[in-house]
Amino acid sequence: MYKRVSKSFLIIFLFFLPVKAMCWGQLGHRIVAEIADSYLTAKTKAEIKKILGNESIAMASNWGDFIKSDTAFNYLETWHYIDFEKNLTYNQFKEVLRKDTGRVDDLYAAINFITKELKKKSLTQEKKRMYLKLLIHFVGDAHQPLHVGIHGTNGGNDIKVQWFGQASNLHRVWDSDLIEKQQLSYTEYAVYLTHTTAAQRKNWQAEPISKWLYDSYVLAQDLHNEITEVNPKLGYRYNYDHIKTLEQQMLKGGVHLAGLLNEIFGK
Ligand SMILES: [Zn+2]
Repeated sequence: MYKRVSKSFLIIFLFFLPVKAMCWGQLGHRIVAEIADSYLTAKTKAEIKKILGNESIAMASNWGDFIKSDTAFNYLETWHYIDFEKNLTYNQFKEVLRKDTGRVDDLYAAINFITKELKKKSLTQEKKRMYLKLLIHFVGDAHQPLHVGIHGTNGGNDIKVQWFGQASNLHRVWDSDLIEKQQLSYTEYAVYLTHTTAAQRKNWQAEPISKWLYDSYVLAQDLHNEITEVNPKLGYRYNYDHIKTLEQQMLKGGVHLAGLLNEIFGK
């Protein structure tokens, strides 16, 4: 009897656990990549197809999270985010980034390192595939404000909130709760958001990676400062106040990703 109960419990447990864990940020990453896909040059598309085959960049975008289940990739854990002190100006922020050279151990170093690697002609096919999938993922992370965190808050994971009555935290609200609330598929969302002028794309694509991260950092600080109560109840009002900001971040992320991929493969 005991055996039977524990076995069925285990099946239920295994059924629910991976679904919950894997839902994190899937939509956000796919939306950013799907937007980027619209802005790739024909040459970039052809080069990417040689690496990914029939897998779209949207479907490849979550691999960076899936491999967290494989201990062989533990060294990549810190590549998904970067933390700073509060209240830095852009110049101070860039100063911190400049000093942070040598080791690839945060989001900024990761994007720079992978970009350099992908430009090498000598890279093996296997490495190319791995780095391309990681780059698509990390450019997405750079645009989710809570991935550019404030020291001591664990990227907002430590800030507990209620999201429509369910236990959540600030990081999770921005990774997935807000996006999922809109009830759109990633392709529907990308179609809705993919409207930019050539001038806007040119401006955004001229921005250095430090600027992408600084914009996320400024947003992250505002989002932290806004939470003044313990375990606040977030719902329709929070959605109303923030969804446009989140959508703008995904759109910028897509345009930035396309610019970077065109720089690497389009020449
Ligand atoms: Zn990530």
